[in-house]
Amino acid sequence: MPKEYTSKPVEKCQICGASGLRSVLFIGYIPPVNTMPTIGSTPVEETVYPLEMLRCEKCTLVQIGLEVDQNILFPLTYPYLSASTKILRENFANLCRESSSLLGLKAGDLVADIGSNDGTLLSNFKNAGYRVLGIEPTNAADIANANDITSEKVFFNAKNAAAAKKKYGEAKVITAANVFAHIGDIHPIVDEILDLLAPNGVFISESHYLLGLIETVQYDTIYHEHLRYYSMRSLSYLLNMHGLEVFHVTRIPTHGGSIRVYAARKGQKQADNSVSEILAEEDRKGITDGSALAAFRKKVIQSKLALHELLRPLKEAGARIYGIGAPSRSSTLINYVGLDDGLIDCVMEIKTSPKVGKYVPGTRIPVLDEEKLYADQPEYALLFSWHITNELTANLRKKGFKGKFIVPLPWPSILEI
Ligand SMILES: [Zn+2]
Repeated sequence: MPKEYTSKPVEKCQICGASGLRSVLFIGYIPPVNTMPTIGSTPVEETVYPLEMLRCEKCTLVQIGLEVDQNILFPLTYPYLSASTKILRENFANLCRESSSLLGLKAGDLVADIGSNDGTLLSNFKNAGYRVLGIEPTNAADIANANDITSEKVFFNAKNAAAAKKKYGEAKVITAANVFAHIGDIHPIVDEILDLLAPNGVFISESHYLLGLIETVQYDTIYHEHLRYYSMRSLSYLLNMHGLEVFHVTRIPTHGGSIRVYAARKGQKQADNSVSEILAEEDRKGITDGSALAAFRKKVIQSKLALHELLRPLKEAGARIYGIGAPSRSSTLINYVGLDDGLIDCVMEIKTSPKVGKYVPGTRIPVLDEEKLYADQPEYALLFSWHITNELTANLRKKGFKGKFIVPLPWPSILEI
């Protein structure tokens, strides 16, 4: 018997429970990003899921309209490893430095990371002399343990949080980087974080930031794993419901624009200016009243048309266009814009990527070893990881690519470099 999956429509706000969520943008019916058939396989029936961005008028949370079963989104063989990009590695080193000095941590304090992946974040804390504990349900936990980053290969839930506390003690710091938006039923998670956190401990979350998303038209970061798109205001609303107060916030460059938010139990820490300043900016830029979302929708549609307009004369002239990188965000962009193997010949990934030898979800665009780019020298390379354009183009030039670069966002253009 095939396994039965259940996906849940989001009919009430995931934070405040209000109904009547307002539609911001309907991206389409999109396959899960990990559905990548092997090259050469016969196309078969595949499940697709509606991808719609919604906004709650009460607490301002922006969220997607369907919670797809976790077993589909995060199979145990989930191929994403956080060590794979330079910006992420640098960000985690920065997180360790910033939090150590801001919080005055002492050697031996326990730092726990929820959704710790291969232990990249925690390795910084370990090297700085702290005790570390990773909680990670996928096989990435084995990699962390092999590198001596103590990790429990489990989902973070009440039972496992209690077991971790018993075994390792209370955490002085709990981090959750780019996972806090990915967990469906978020309220119990915050409660469990509080269970594991010392009374004067600090919870640090990093989340993709709604204002950054809007400002750079990043509709491609809308996909089923990303259930919620936090502003400072909506994230504060959630944390306040659990007796946590934000006392410091930093905008960071990961994933094209994120926020790192420090929170402690009420009365433990004095909030600094960074919190009031970012809230004022959100008010000023239409995040709080929602006006920025309506403008965002228009820009997304114009951007889709502009990408077609840019590609049309290139294809009419017979140019070859290879995509660079098959991150999750590329799947939304390719499926929403309607790119196919007639427009994009193939997508390049490094040889060791588990995506090589597969098709981009929802298409017959093959993902191939990056060496092909240098051997074939196509006229154009389209950067799907356009949020790290500088790092990517420098790297590709160094390796010998001579063609031109296309970036699809924030506005489709051919780079003059
Ligand atoms: Zn709400």
